[in-house]
Amino acid sequence: MARREPSITTDRLTATQLMEIDACTRCNECLNWCPVYEEINQGTFTPEGHANLTSKDTLDFTPKNKLNTWRTFMNKSYGLRAKLFGPREIPEDAIMKFRDELYQCTTCGICSTVCESGIGTVEIWESLRANMVMHERGPYGKQVGFTELLKTHNIFAAEQKDRLCWMPGDVEMEEKCDVAYFVGCTAAYRMQKVALATVRVLNALNIPFTMLGEEEWCCVSVLIRTGQLGLVEEFVNHNIEALKEKGVKTVVYACAGCHRTSILDWPKFYKGGKKLPFEILALSEYMERLLDAGKIEFKWEKPLEKTVTMHDSCHTGRHVGVFDAPRRIYKMIPGINFVEMERNREYQRCCGAGGGIKAGVPDLALKCAQKRVRDAEAVGADIISSTCPFCRRNIKDGINAMETNVVFEDQIVLVAEAMGLDLTVPKNPYSDKQVE
Ligand code: SF4
Ligand code: SF4
Repeated sequence: MARREPSITTDRLTATQLMEIDACTRCNECLNWCPVYEEINQGTFTPEGHANLTSKDTLDFTPKNKLNTWRTFMNKSYGLRAKLFGPREIPEDAIMKFRDELYQCTTCGICSTVCESGIGTVEIWESLRANMVMHERGPYGKQVGFTELLKTHNIFAAEQKDRLCWMPGDVEMEEKCDVAYFVGCTAAYRMQKVALATVRVLNALNIPFTMLGEEEWCCVSVLIRTGQLGLVEEFVNHNIEALKEKGVKTVVYACAGCHRTSILDWPKFYKGGKKLPFEILALSEYMERLLDAGKIEFKWEKPLEKTVTMHDSCHTGRHVGVFDAPRRIYKMIPGINFVEMERNREYQRCCGAGGGIKAGVPDLALKCAQKRVRDAEAVGADIISSTCPFCRRNIKDGINAMETNVVFEDQIVLVAEAMGLDLTVPKNPYSDKQVE
């Protein structure tokens, strides 16, 4: 009799990841931190198609159980018994249930931060998602449309020629330059105030810079986070070559998603794993470097007189490790009373936007955002601020759907306002699509 084919494969998983999956000691620490499990366990969110979950069922959405479920699948498919007697069948509905559990995750990474075995969970979730997509079991919900949308080279299916339509004529930008500002789709089309604040501040600090304009394609964070790798190599290499052509040595980011993707993901797809030909920095890091070198000086015009707290985006914070530079900038803004939320820096609570959750599971994204706003309320903040247009979008959506006096504003907008810079975005085809 012919041997049965395994029901799952280990495609997209590295040898290290296969060992890491085996390394979970079931200590349960990640259960105390996972924002998705918290919502499901508290009954504030029910995943689609999973009504009436018992408390035992809810555990299947924890990092620990996801690792254990996949380990069981691998044992059935490739363990000693499978080698001797052939793989044991895994019902497709069990695999699809696992698929649902895998995609109810913001890839926030706190399960990795607190894991006593040091398991790189985010990379494992992303590899497993790529495995699911490869076998036509993923992605999830509206994430299915990402590849189609990106045929336009941006995630909003907008016109590429409009990529700089938010920029007033008096902004000074170089054609070629050592420094590039990578704007990102969200700031270019939906958060134009953030993009404008960034270029206004760069101009006011006399920092020459260039931008790619029409040649800036999506950073492909949305594809990598959701396991859809088909277009990734083309997009990554396009952006890198375009930056090289402009003679760029340093790329700065005011978008945490683009920043994380460029620094951690692009090298994996650039010419088979080559080192990037430029350095990647968060805008706050770059400004800190220039401050330390005595090359820039902020000229403040308007004290803000607000209590401000910082929400560390998962991407620039926990994933890349930039915590101090943005705090230094906040503390320089005159009039700001800077306070920390109880959960901050690497232990920050995810706002719920990442990992394809905003598109795939929007109810969950909203619940997480509102919990983060309550964290800000608890420390008496007037403003919750971050360095990520995507956090901005989700936290603002959360605020708009709840009773609170807290408002959100991006760090670079606060800086621009305190410097008295003009943040009037010229009318453009996306003016009525801005998230305010
Ligand atoms: S990455 Fe975040 S949301 Fe995903 S399983 Fe880990 S703790 Fe939960
Ligand atoms: S914290 Fe790490 S070792 Fe502990 S249960 Fe979670 S994944 Fe396993």
